[in-house]
Amino acid sequence: MAEANDWVPAGINVNVPSAARVYDYFLGGAHNFAVDRALAEQIAAMTPNIGETMRSNRVFLRRAVRHLAAQGVRQFLDIGSGIPTAGNVHEIALEAAPGARVVYVDIDPVAVEHSRAILAGVDGTGVICADMRDVDRVLGESEKLGLDFTEPVAVLLAGVLHFVPDDDDPKSIVAALGSAVVPGSHLLISHATADGQPPEVVEAQRLSGRTGTEIVLRPAAEITSYFEGFDLVEPGLVFIPRWRPDPQDPVDEHPERVGAYAGVGKKG
Ligand code: SAM
Repeated sequence: MAEANDWVPAGINVNVPSAARVYDYFLGGAHNFAVDRALAEQIAAMTPNIGETMRSNRVFLRRAVRHLAAQGVRQFLDIGSGIPTAGNVHEIALEAAPGARVVYVDIDPVAVEHSRAILAGVDGTGVICADMRDVDRVLGESEKLGLDFTEPVAVLLAGVLHFVPDDDDPKSIVAALGSAVVPGSHLLISHATADGQPPEVVEAQRLSGRTGTEIVLRPAAEITSYFEGFDLVEPGLVFIPRWRPDPQDPVDEHPERVGAYAGVGKKG
């Protein structure tokens, strides 16, 4: 069912769901269509924890950016950045480290359009509409937008690598990004997994194929291998709620229910 909205970029097919807009819906955003909401509800009916997974991922990203800024990171390349929501990477980074530079990259026109709108006039930020599989383009455009690859950069791959099929060799994509950054740079990954999940999670994941890109659930060992050349910082690759929870957060006894891992590595 099509919807008339003044925020819809030209050329968008509002009858086909998109990963970015389904995620936006789960985060309580307003930039999604009926088709996205219907798919989200169908997935949620099969996997009731899915909304929590998405929110937990977003909260992890904020925690990690705050952590990285506190470590002195001043440049962030956020790939698969999504539709802007509260507490975006540039807001966290600029609050913690005025003068930080942030470049967003997404394949989804709605995500890119809205990122452009909220970043208009914000110094040190930029947006690229690109497929992360085109690493040369991502790096080249980022440089044009002000990222200095002779200085450390944090490459953020939050909730995006599971959209890259095995045939496109996600490990080599991460390796290409990793080799473009200097020692002292960081790599952040969060990624969906079937580890510790009931069978219906795997079934629900197949529904994601309706967006045109089926999510690939990967085991911890494979996701860990993407950090080659980077030393995982404490606590390593863990279920998302276990990555440096805030001291006031209650201890999460079942972090595996979110079905996604998170980790941050530093290039030595
Ligand atoms: N990184 C944000 C976060 O963690 O809150 C958003 C994650 S959202 C689940 C995944 C985003 O990755 C979507 O906005 C989608 O459009 C984008 N994406 C998927 N495949 C991509 C690709 N090949 N290149 C760039 N972006 C991609």
